[in-house]
Amino acid sequence: MASTIQVLPTEVVHLITAGEVIDSLAAVVRELVENSLDAGATRIVVYLSPNLWRVRVADNGCGMNHDDLHKAAIAHSTSKIRSCADLWKIRSLGFRGEALHSLTTLADLEILSRPEKNYSDGLRVVYGYGGEPVLVETAAIASGTVVTVSNLFGNWSARRQGMPSAAQQIKAVQTTIQQIALCHPEVSWQVWQNDREWFTISPATTTGKLLPQILNQVRQGDLHEVKIKLPLPNSELNIVVGLPDRCHRHRPDWVRVAINGRMVKSQELEHTILSGFHRTLPRDRYPVCLLHLVISPEQIDWNRHPAKSEIYLKDMGYWQEQISSAIDQALRLNSDTLKESVHISRVGKLLKAAEEKSGYNLKENKTPNSLKAVGQINNTYIVVEHPGGMWLVEQHIAHERVLYEKICNDWQLISIEPPVLLYQLSPVQVSQIQRIGLDIEPFGEQLWAVRTIPAMLQKREDCAEAILELSLGGNLEAAQVAVACRSAIRNGTVLSLPQMQTLLDEWQSTRNPHTCPHGRPICLSLEESSLARFFRRNWVIGKSHGI
Ligand code: ADP
Ligand code: MG
Repeated sequence: MASTIQVLPTEVVHLITAGEVIDSLAAVVRELVENSLDAGATRIVVYLSPNLWRVRVADNGCGMNHDDLHKAAIAHSTSKIRSCADLWKIRSLGFRGEALHSLTTLADLEILSRPEKNYSDGLRVVYGYGGEPVLVETAAIASGTVVTVSNLFGNWSARRQGMPSAAQQIKAVQTTIQQIALCHPEVSWQVWQNDREWFTISPATTTGKLLPQILNQVRQGDLHEVKIKLPLPNSELNIVVGLPDRCHRHRPDWVRVAINGRMVKSQELEHTILSGFHRTLPRDRYPVCLLHLVISPEQIDWNRHPAKSEIYLKDMGYWQEQISSAIDQALRLNSDTLKESVHISRVGKLLKAAEEKSGYNLKENKTPNSLKAVGQINNTYIVVEHPGGMWLVEQHIAHERVLYEKICNDWQLISIEPPVLLYQLSPVQVSQIQRIGLDIEPFGEQLWAVRTIPAMLQKREDCAEAILELSLGGNLEAAQVAVACRSAIRNGTVLSLPQMQTLLDEWQSTRNPHTCPHGRPICLSLEESSLARFFRRNWVIGKSHGI
């Protein structure tokens, strides 16, 4: 791919959000790295020298020839768009032709480059204020580009003083690189700070496979990744979901949205993600979820913000629907997500089988169709056998999940005769009972009659207590959770095999089988591969009859 840089026509310049995009070391890194990615680089090395206010980015991308190097830093010069119409076809990360130019006004800029189709030597160009080359000489380098920005804000002492602390700036550089890496998992990164290697990111085939390198607390098995091709041309939705029984955060800091290769802020889409995890996480916890939409460029207007971190999306409702259904899909039970790698980390001390999986693979995305109840432990855990291993399912919360989803789909209130009588309710309790839709009326001194109740409570002896509990507060949803919890099979209840089997079948088809509505995990899985490892079955094959 040979780039040909041209200066944009004035009418295009007028359409582009003007704005200073270089306001920090991290912004320099972002602009240079995005140029490397646009040049098709698969290896990027970043050298950061904060005390010299210097950033150098080296890539193995397409490089620039003599002509391009001459024009690269002139105002509004770009190889990425030509005309107004191109603004709706943007597939590259850059397009304004502003970054290198602004850098020449804010810092010293030097570029070494050699195009991939070998034009014998590379060139080294030093640019003067405003972007004219002031020195051009041949230089021996591998094909690709090395851009060095030094003495950033050297003539803008006020800006340097207004900067956050060095430590904060360095952290911002790291975050910037990590966010970009998550959007381009196929790229390998090496990052140096003050002549020492600082961190590296190895390439991966998917974002989910890359994430554990960046977010150390999560492991591959904690995540489930769904990729959906959408009916629109060239559109795709990738979502990496942290399974709610395995990871969650105390802040929504890992709810991230990327569009066409760049992390963006989108309150609307973030909100959609959070609602997708509704009632699957413990109270005040937030999911890990990375969404990457690949969208036809005409659906997007990047011009909301000069740093391109905010965008306009056409047809927001459509995207929100797609995202919700992708999260639903990712959260359903399937043998892939129930591999135990994570649980093992929690029961690792018991099992010592937590080594990396070796070559073991269940078929992707298959709902385990043959869950077989084989027994009950302590009248609390159902032992489940399936082709990939065994699970323990806690009967009470599995049933609570089943009932909760039933109630949400169909919150039935039924009339009862005689009514349930309650004593000594406060006015707040009475209005709370009305608020969740039950009929209640005075029935004498300190006495109230409740004439409609949730259907599920009908046959329960503790119906009156249940309604008292509901009168103590919470909205309709909290009431539904409470009814599900109260109605679910108690731990300690003896179950017959057919009863266990029915519960398993119902639980298996819930929308969010991983956790109960309070966010507690429902199932512990022990996969055949780990059992085989634990019992050292590889030792005996061929030597004994125990196979
Ligand atoms: P933009 O990225 O918006 O086009 P820039 O000022 O960032 O504007 O870059 C100007 C041009 O310089 C780019 O359009 C591209 O052709 C060229 N360029 C910049 N960095 C590189 C690089 N690392 N490899 C190849 N070409 C580059
Ligand atoms: Mg650029």
